[in-house]
Amino acid sequence: MSSEFISPTGNRNKPEVFRANSGFPDFDSTGLIRRTDPVDSCLLNLRTKYDVVIAGAGHNGLVAAGYLAQAGKSVLMLEKNPEIGGATKSARIFDGVDAKISVYSYLVSLFPRKIAKDLGIDLQLKRRKIASYTPDGIGELLVSNVDESVTRDSFHELTGTDRDYLGYLKLQEAQERVAKVIWPGLLNPLVDREALLSGLQPEDRRAFFEEPLGNLIESHLDHDLIRGMVFTDAKIGVLTEPEDATLLQNRTFLYHIIGRGTGKWQPPAGGMGALVDQLESVARRAGTEILTGAGVLEIGPGSGNSDHEVRFSLDGQEQSVRARFVLQNHTPPHPSGEVDREREGSVFKINLMLKHLPALKSKTVSAEDAFCGTFHIDEGYEKMRADYWAVDAGSLPEDPGCEIYCHSLTDPSILGEEVREKGWQTLTCFGLDAPYGLFESDNEALRQLTLERAFRVINEHLT
Ligand SMILES: Cc1cc2nc3c(=O)[nH]c(=O)nc-3n(C[C@H](O)[C@H](O)[C@H](O)COP(=O)(O)OP(=O)(O)OC[C@H]3O[C@@H](n4cnc5c(N)ncnc54)[C@H](O)[C@@H]3O)c2cc1C
Repeated sequence: MSSEFISPTGNRNKPEVFRANSGFPDFDSTGLIRRTDPVDSCLLNLRTKYDVVIAGAGHNGLVAAGYLAQAGKSVLMLEKNPEIGGATKSARIFDGVDAKISVYSYLVSLFPRKIAKDLGIDLQLKRRKIASYTPDGIGELLVSNVDESVTRDSFHELTGTDRDYLGYLKLQEAQERVAKVIWPGLLNPLVDREALLSGLQPEDRRAFFEEPLGNLIESHLDHDLIRGMVFTDAKIGVLTEPEDATLLQNRTFLYHIIGRGTGKWQPPAGGMGALVDQLESVARRAGTEILTGAGVLEIGPGSGNSDHEVRFSLDGQEQSVRARFVLQNHTPPHPSGEVDREREGSVFKINLMLKHLPALKSKTVSAEDAFCGTFHIDEGYEKMRADYWAVDAGSLPEDPGCEIYCHSLTDPSILGEEVREKGWQTLTCFGLDAPYGLFESDNEALRQLTLERAFRVINEHLT
């Protein structure tokens, strides 16, 4: 939903408008984005049959390709877009600005060290000094990754007691207990639900897997802002609320707390694209063939015993290839053609370049601290619940909850030397409660409305 980005530099500064490239960027010289090879030469080299065809070249498909090709299988990847990486790509999206933006996904937690080791990938993660900053115009909360006393003092300052801080610690202990049981399950052979959950304490099983997550949060924390800060991990990317009977909020929360057994989220050095570049070269070196601009149309039975036939479109022409196995690394459309609420994305992302960090209204927290962690805006607990019901009734929230984050503060290597010397910074705004289904009716108008509202709520915290 993006083509024009306006930096929310606040009243003190003139608004600066950056226009993102209209087409797909062409960064062949850097190897960052690969242009589609000429169709004829691609097809000339294509075999008629592969051991494995992988539909979609996101990072999960690339990992699978790396393993399979290293095991000696013939692998073909078919990617609809002109570039590789899916939601983990990086690109220089601002004309004339040398800044590699992690366009969608930007933090890593769920990528197991074992996979990096097996594939020979050097995955370096940066450490963010501040985990999060959450102001609400009255109070503010700062959670540090390096100094526990900063976090404790901030909880006390906000609430006037230690109760929420102690509740927060207890909650984290419970999360760590759950993470220790669930995280290894991502790499071990699949077991059934009972076998997996049997390793949990009964109260953890109930709180994380059987009851709506709202109960757990409300029993540990009193302050609305602190409850909200915790609940964002259950809501980011999907449309849900604390009491959601489908437990979508519980599942989303689990994804956010189990990573590497700690639930820590860190930016990869060089941005997401640096990780994807490594995955791509591992897969290619092992012999994987990758065809971009190739959208899979249908996966059907082939003529051989266990073969499949994959039909795809390349440069407007329909092609097909046979495979023993097909891995589907993209979400297929819902059979009914309708949007499935539990799988529907509910997020907007705005990428910006700033000529300098905006000044904050806060008298106690510096802009560097606030922007280097996750800066929560309008993400109070009851506010998010109300927004859910507003969206459920068909309208976008007046004041969209969102999180902003300055990647280049933690990892200046994503900026070219000139941009770095000028002191420019990237800023990402990741917004809640923007379900795909609502935008379908008039994407352009709702996109504009979302931009205006997001900048308004961000500017509330800037001088
Ligand atoms: C805005 C946003 C921010 C996010 N932030 C984070 C984050 O910070 N950290 C995190 O861990 N996760 C994050 N996520 C989630 C994460 O990005 C995804 O879970 C992950 O990228 C999924 O990877 P994948 O390889 O499975 O699929 P994808 O990355 O979705 O890749 C699927 C690929 O399939 C291709 N494709 C689609 N249809 C076809 C077709 N018919 N034929 C051929 N190819 C096709 C697509 O073009 C794409 O390249 C975020 C998601 C979004 C949307």
